[in-house]
Amino acid sequence: MTSQDSRGDGPTKPSRRTFLSAATVTAAAATVAAPLATAPAASASTGGGPSGPGRPIRPQSPDRELRELLREIDQRRIEAIVRRLAEFGTRHTLSSQDDPARGIGAARDWIYEQMRGYAARSGGRMTVELQSYIQEPASRIPVPTRITNVVATLRGETSPERIYVVTGHYDSRCTDVMDATSDAPGADDDASGVAVAMELARIMATRRSEATIVFAAVAGEEQGLYGSGYMARQYKAAGADVQGMFSDDIVGSSTADDGTRDRRTLRLFAEGVPTAETPAEGNTRRSVGGENDSPSRQLARYVSDVADNDSTGMRIRVIYRRDRYLRGSDHISFLEQGYPAGRFTEPNEDFAHQHQDVRLVDDKQYGDLPEFCDFEYITRVAKVNAAALWSLAQAPGTPKGATIVTSNLTNDTELRWTRGTEPDLAGYEVVWRETTAPEWTHVIPVGDVTTTTIDLSKDNVFFGVRAVDTAGHRSPVAFPRPGS
Ligand SMILES: [Zn+2]
Repeated sequence: MTSQDSRGDGPTKPSRRTFLSAATVTAAAATVAAPLATAPAASASTGGGPSGPGRPIRPQSPDRELRELLREIDQRRIEAIVRRLAEFGTRHTLSSQDDPARGIGAARDWIYEQMRGYAARSGGRMTVELQSYIQEPASRIPVPTRITNVVATLRGETSPERIYVVTGHYDSRCTDVMDATSDAPGADDDASGVAVAMELARIMATRRSEATIVFAAVAGEEQGLYGSGYMARQYKAAGADVQGMFSDDIVGSSTADDGTRDRRTLRLFAEGVPTAETPAEGNTRRSVGGENDSPSRQLARYVSDVADNDSTGMRIRVIYRRDRYLRGSDHISFLEQGYPAGRFTEPNEDFAHQHQDVRLVDDKQYGDLPEFCDFEYITRVAKVNAAALWSLAQAPGTPKGATIVTSNLTNDTELRWTRGTEPDLAGYEVVWRETTAPEWTHVIPVGDVTTTTIDLSKDNVFFGVRAVDTAGHRSPVAFPRPGS
């Protein structure tokens, strides 16, 4: 709308074209709230964008249930979790596992007890387990070491086999990554992420979710993503259908070392070319594009769609790369198993408060202490995660088997997919955009079908398919592969 206006005849004299386009946009916006329009798509000019079938795409607003859920997220509880975790002195993966007061074992037992307390109010829907294995000597692991994830699983009511995961890592480190005894409070890195996962577990435990949601505090991250690696491999070995995973890692502050503050932005790192891409998939991508259309990118677009709004108070800054320079987090473990995943992290960083011994140098305090956390900020991060996870788990799953039919040379586009099994599934929408656009721009409701033909050449734009339920919840977009 704004780009259209700025292209018009001038601010004081709107052209007829501007007026008509604005009216079209208003009419389109009015239909967004309807669960699923079944009328054939009309051609619509869309602001400064390209012409073609469908209407301009609009973000999904949170429904009443989600808004209520977001209001329950409690800043005081989040602060209490971060401070309690910092009090274990160190949570280094190689620190004591049986000291009741100090070390990773005491932290593990405390998180486990808290999670069990949440699950006790779930009517049996939430279970909590200590997922544990012995890591044999490897990089940054000098002796056989037990690594334990604390995993709370809220089983879905109607699509339990479909899984969404959120993690924070509860291990910590100081300057020397092999130093298991010095203080390593790890408030920002990553008690903040653990607090997000735990607070969401507490709030969602009392609710009924359609799909399964998993809230995990993982270990061994600083030594080399060991805990999340084990967790992701377990899911893969079990054939689990993990359709989205988020690592919240360093989400505790919004202040950079130069004092720059950005209290309402959260970064989301999302890879382009999939980490687990096969050679055949690589050939397809080189042939028809798709570098910007991995499942993780669709997941990131979905997060912007449902969580970048006034109910979270946060702007999502999606970054088109797997992670920051020189760093990695637990989402990589899931990417390696072929699961869509992304990493949330704060917008600005102060490296004096990460991976640093707690010390004073010339009156400057180093170390990852709770006093440098912004608990209001972490609360908004939790709201973003909650909006994303809850929306994903109440919507239909991402369509499977999405195919762009390429048996013949044609100037239109035939799409095909497999119908989902959700009891409240209402139908499907085709989305499209210019190949140079970062976000989907147009949506075409096509009804409860599994094939459709769009009067627009597949050679010139990108297409996707998403599912819609009777309440109007949309799934993430599936990017079709060429096939017959
Ligand atoms: Zn970390």
